[in-house]
Amino acid sequence: MIVDLHNHTPLCNHAQGSMDEYIEEAIRAGTQYFGFSDHAPMDFDLEYRMTFAQMQSYERDVLHAKEKYKDKIEILLGYEVDYLEGHMDSRVLHAKVDYLIGSVHFIEGWGFDNPEFIGRWREQDIDEVWQKYFDAIEAMAKSGLFDIVGHLDLIKVFKFMPQGDINAMANKALLAIKKADMVLELNIAGYRKDVKEAYPSRDLLKEAYRLDIPITFASDAHKPEQVALFNEQIVQLAKEIGYTECVYFINREKKFLNF
Ligand SMILES: [Zn+2]
Ligand SMILES: [Zn+2]
Repeated sequence: MIVDLHNHTPLCNHAQGSMDEYIEEAIRAGTQYFGFSDHAPMDFDLEYRMTFAQMQSYERDVLHAKEKYKDKIEILLGYEVDYLEGHMDSRVLHAKVDYLIGSVHFIEGWGFDNPEFIGRWREQDIDEVWQKYFDAIEAMAKSGLFDIVGHLDLIKVFKFMPQGDINAMANKALLAIKKADMVLELNIAGYRKDVKEAYPSRDLLKEAYRLDIPITFASDAHKPEQVALFNEQIVQLAKEIGYTECVYFINREKKFLNF
């Protein structure tokens, strides 16, 4: 894939490998625009993200890599930010970056995608959990704070599937994404998880295409060897739906590219 905007670094305490190793993999895969978007600092769930004090070195290291590799690949700077009312911080929201990814990893403080807390899934109404998740995505889009929607249907990660119609549950979220002029990422990480398919699903992606919501591509790599893994599948999926263009960002401005 020629654009890959969602990749992590060891600063978040749950990724491995140096920036150079990630970049070397991206170059090997033929990526033209490769972005780091590590988990932004926040006064919540501190163990899975960098600290505010580390922002400066993170940004400096990415900009250093941008310079170092400029003849081979364009390196971009971003953050993946948790949409969490009351915890989002202006130091992140106003950081001088190419883009911000908005993601929902928590429902009422519960880290639903964390294997440590998988037990909670069995104590709740699955349809209700799904609806709460998409309500949070809708609120995230309406906040207007972010450029990219991170893994739109991450809620399926452990394959606790609802009985209700998923597209209907996600309908208001998709309309809000369209209205906010946000970009949807096609995220490979789902292929590495129990659900064994991309985020978002084919059905949700079809609806996004119908609404003319643009897309970008994302490895969501937490290890260098995850960079561009399953990239043929995800590009194929986008093409089958009808997409011909993807997006990258420079200074929070959309740029379109044929893929
Ligand atoms: Zn992560
Ligand atoms: Zn994420």
